[in-house]
Amino acid sequence: MFLTNRHPPEQLLQLKALSHRTSLGDKNHQQLERLSLGYQGECLYDRVFTEVGHENLHIYRDIYLKVEDSTTQYDTLIITDQGVIVNEIKNFKGTYTVSEGSWALGDFVLPDDPFAQLRRAIGKLRRLSNLSDLNFKVSGKLIFPNEECTLIINDEKLKENIIIRSNLRRYFERFKQSYSSNYASAISNVISEHIVENPYLKEGVAFDDIRHGLYCEACRTFDLSTERYHLRCLSCGTIETKETHLIRAISDFKYLFGKLPLTTEKMMRFTGGQISKRTVQRVLDKYCDRHGISKSSTYTFKYYDFNEAMKHEGVKRRYKDHLLK
Ligand SMILES: [Zn+2]
Repeated sequence: MFLTNRHPPEQLLQLKALSHRTSLGDKNHQQLERLSLGYQGECLYDRVFTEVGHENLHIYRDIYLKVEDSTTQYDTLIITDQGVIVNEIKNFKGTYTVSEGSWALGDFVLPDDPFAQLRRAIGKLRRLSNLSDLNFKVSGKLIFPNEECTLIINDEKLKENIIIRSNLRRYFERFKQSYSSNYASAISNVISEHIVENPYLKEGVAFDDIRHGLYCEACRTFDLSTERYHLRCLSCGTIETKETHLIRAISDFKYLFGKLPLTTEKMMRFTGGQISKRTVQRVLDKYCDRHGISKSSTYTFKYYDFNEAMKHEGVKRRYKDHLLK
């Protein structure tokens, strides 16, 4: 069973929010594409795993583990009575020529060697195994979930550490023979005790450096007309509730401005005054935790991001959105 949620990386959410409100440079644009593709691969991996079934396993997804002084990110850890298996997910597309220490896509040689990354990730967990007295075994595989990925590998030994899309289902099915009893639970507890927040968060941008206002979900333009409970896009006709717009703005705010405290006044400025203060206040109170009293109150979003908030709250809401997609 999945023990932790998988979320889009913070940096991806930041770049996405930025891309609607300013022009990304080439480097940031490529980073956005790369992170987006990576996340799609992880979701595909989860979907296939869920189709095969994983109730007998302890699975951590998208976690940071602090072991001694260093923190390592893990896409997926599978824990059974046999130990821990690291799955590093690489959503590569295209034909790669692979040898020890070098991965090439045509003439382009990848700056990082995925095998080295996997070895480092396994090494950290072995260290944790020694420190914990549980002496659990640690192994790992590189997972390539994309059907459009071809790997040319001559070294048979390297192949053993790789699972490609056509073998993924079979790979997961092998875990059906695995058991997770007290020993797996004990390992799982040790892992859980070492989970930390993502320490690599990027700095936020300056509040006034980017475009303020509300934008249409479907076509991203900022030309909206105000109706009683909704905003209508003047470009494509999409109608979304004011509440939906505000949830998106709160989520964007969270990822755009780093540690800048969210206040009613800041949200009024950020949304360009298109929605009344009373409504802004009501939505902040509903979707955020409030700190302090009266005018100096600050808010923190209760949800990871816009999509999570909509999943929790969207179905109950009175005035529905009409997305024209
Ligand atoms: Zn639109």
